[in-house]
Amino acid sequence: MSTTVGDIHRSLEEWAPAATAQSYDNVGLLVGRMNKGVSKAIVALDVTPQVIEEAIDGQADCIITHHPLIFKPLKRLTDSSLESSMALRLAEAGIALYATHTNLDAARDGVSFQLAKDLGVREPEFLSTLTDSIVKVIVFCPVDSVEGVRDAMFAAGAGQIGKYSECSFASAGSGTFRPGSDTNPHIGQTNGPREQVSELRLEMEVPRWKLSAVMRAMKEAHPYEEVAYDVIKVEQDFRDAGIGAVGNLAKPVTLREFLNATAHALDNPALRYVGDPDAVVNRVAVCGGSGSDFIGLAKAAGADVYVTADVTYHRYFEVLNNDGHPSMALINAGHFETERCTEDLLVDFLTQRFPGVRFAATKHRTAPVKTWVAGRD
Ligand SMILES: [Zn+2]
Repeated sequence: MSTTVGDIHRSLEEWAPAATAQSYDNVGLLVGRMNKGVSKAIVALDVTPQVIEEAIDGQADCIITHHPLIFKPLKRLTDSSLESSMALRLAEAGIALYATHTNLDAARDGVSFQLAKDLGVREPEFLSTLTDSIVKVIVFCPVDSVEGVRDAMFAAGAGQIGKYSECSFASAGSGTFRPGSDTNPHIGQTNGPREQVSELRLEMEVPRWKLSAVMRAMKEAHPYEEVAYDVIKVEQDFRDAGIGAVGNLAKPVTLREFLNATAHALDNPALRYVGDPDAVVNRVAVCGGSGSDFIGLAKAAGADVYVTADVTYHRYFEVLNNDGHPSMALINAGHFETERCTEDLLVDFLTQRFPGVRFAATKHRTAPVKTWVAGRD
């Protein structure tokens, strides 16, 4: 069986669920059909006309990008703008376009984890995990049906706590019900007397985005016509998705050394920064792409330096103490440069999962912006 766009989608959903993307984002399949076969795919940070030509020339079936081509709704599919002409070209050429963006930023071992590792951080962790993303499902089952319901819920993605799977709790009790006139009860009779049944209260945690699949599986496996259940919000973070990454270097270095290492690792010869070049750097926080909003999180995580991109002038002041000296160094290392690792990250992940498909990073540098360094030609 050949791999389809849908297979790639399902595999990426396991790692970086679309539900963990920011609300403004537009991720997933943007052009094409889920049932299209894929034997060759190009991976790029951005889709550009050059990337599309590369895909057409190389007979690729699919392009997978980090940044979505379509962000605002398109009013027409013509050559009236760069965006719509690229969407039209892809549709004409029969090439699917798929984007995994802020959901891949939020994924464990996603963009920021890779950036952190590329800068020498060992065992990175999230700067902040995803809040408001776990619910608890409680369902009441007759004792002899509980195994089937439990298995079905696990199979649909319930019961994961950290690195432990199949976590559930069941407590015994007694349930009552009285079947009405238009019922087909599993226990008792239509329009019969009140029944009292030994039941188990089965409970387990579910990520919010798996809730509908878990509920469907639970109801299919449950013998009752009307299932009694509760879905409860719990004050717990989902630990496999979050913002940025933070961790320690193998050994402390000066900020000067760290700036040089960062420039080299990210192939960016000019870095804007706040900080004392002689300050000691050990704890490093990062966020690939536009991470100015997380300066406070980096400080709270005890970072000596925060590496991100798209830092505007006034945001640099946020790392200064009342005396005007920096409390933490801040490096603006470039949007493309801090996220370029995404291409290899996706190629490696997808090649491992779909060895029969050829995934290749684009040969183009997709960023339209370059850095001019005086003295270099
Ligand atoms: Zn980005």
